[in-house]
Amino acid sequence: MEHVSSTPVVGHLAAAPAWAMLAYLVSGVLFILALRGLSSPESSRAGNRFGMIGMLIAVITTIVTHSLANIAEIGIAIAIGGAIGYIVAQRIAMTAMPQLVAAFHSLVGLAAVLVGVAAYLNPEAFGILDTTGQIFKGSRIELGLGVAIGAITFSGSVIAFLKLNGNMSGAPILLPGRHILNLGVLAGILVLVAIFGRETPELFWAILILSFAIGFLLIIPIGGADMPVVVSMLNSYSGWAAAAMGFTLQNTAMIITGALVGSSGAILSYIMCKAMNRSFISVIAGGFGAEASAGPAAKTDRPWKRGSADDAAFILKNAEKVIIVPGYGMAVSQAQHTLREMGDVLKKEGVEVKYAIHPVAGRMPGHMNVLLAEANVPYDEVFELEDINSEFAQADVAFVIGANDVTNPAAQTDKSSPIYGMPVLEVWKAKTVLFVKRSMGGVGYAGVDNDVFYMDNTMMLLGDAKKMTDEIVKGLAH
Ligand code: NDP
Repeated sequence: MEHVSSTPVVGHLAAAPAWAMLAYLVSGVLFILALRGLSSPESSRAGNRFGMIGMLIAVITTIVTHSLANIAEIGIAIAIGGAIGYIVAQRIAMTAMPQLVAAFHSLVGLAAVLVGVAAYLNPEAFGILDTTGQIFKGSRIELGLGVAIGAITFSGSVIAFLKLNGNMSGAPILLPGRHILNLGVLAGILVLVAIFGRETPELFWAILILSFAIGFLLIIPIGGADMPVVVSMLNSYSGWAAAAMGFTLQNTAMIITGALVGSSGAILSYIMCKAMNRSFISVIAGGFGAEASAGPAAKTDRPWKRGSADDAAFILKNAEKVIIVPGYGMAVSQAQHTLREMGDVLKKEGVEVKYAIHPVAGRMPGHMNVLLAEANVPYDEVFELEDINSEFAQADVAFVIGANDVTNPAAQTDKSSPIYGMPVLEVWKAKTVLFVKRSMGGVGYAGVDNDVFYMDNTMMLLGDAKKMTDEIVKGLAH
């Protein structure tokens, strides 16, 4: 790829024409508006549109201001990539979103690595050579850091994908001495980034290999319940990789976008860590402080009560206050519309209905909010954990539908549990807990048993979430 045709490459900093800089600035502003829009379900569509327009402006500006080797090849690549993206987005199930996001992050990492390798192999084309034929010192650092972060993002995201997709156990895999090993490898990468040059290609390839390895080592020890943080952390890494490559390519739009993704991903990771009561440093250091947990609790033969949809309808109808707790199972069975219908019927009967959302319910941040919004559940009936947890004690019914880990009291009581320390919705404090799931054997994402199933005030409603809710709605009509 050659640099700006209308402006000759002058040493390291080849300036793009003024109008192009302005266009990149406009797309940067549009990306900021996109993030702003995405912060609420009401404005998220507008946010997405801002992002799309911003990206279109950035891509067109880059194509117009660069003398491309072959515009037809670029067009074909865009068409193939666009078609794949379109088909995948059309087909993907909402529940498979986290692994899709992890897969996309791996592509961002790989792209950063490929750009970095291209720049290293052909520095003239990138305008990063000084008069002595060496790569500028600043460019070397950008390049080294860019490929390192890109490679970490790539291998880390591949592991996250395999874990989230169920191809690899979600349980933490703790290697002995992993902290020393990780620190050693990270220090090695930094030293290599500081000293590699054109005459030492072996050092450049060593940076790549060690970075691929550390991405793998960092994500392998992170356990099931911490995966949401990993996804947002890899999102952040992919942004920094893109920003570093933006410096190498001297592309302002890429620097702005990368920095936005990097910092918003880091802020989201921090918020998620706070919500999960995890230490940010522990998670980014790769399961730092994670103890080998007892693993899935042994199945016990404790007694439990089973109820029918009609029993549930009777209890719900006679309640004054019902708190609905949706989780991953609601998403799997797409029960949100029927659930809203159930809520509407109950409200007509004079029952107070509220929805309680746990920050990591489902399989992606905001998963439940999106589904409830899609089913037109009024926003003022939806409450976050910290705002509603104290209300379970006054509720007649906690209606748990497809949620499990987020209601597990072991998070408060059992130090050996992998979810210990995570705040949970205290559903067991309600007068009656109606617990919808398909079987007593099925566990949640963290793979642990839940004491709530066996409590005196719990009635298990075994069946698919949508079917069960359908039957309850019918039962309410009697
Ligand atoms: P869980 O994964 O803990 O539990 C899901 C429950 O739904 C299970 O008990 C399962 O039991 C039931 N279920 C599954 N399918 C159906 C169905 N069709 N009908 C009825 N029930 C069904 O979900 P939670 O939402 O409570 O917790 C989320 C977990 O996922 C947490 O551990 C979180 O850390 C993790 N996670 C969250 C991410 C995020 O960003 N939100 C990302 C990655 C992981 P059964 O099989 O018996 O039906």
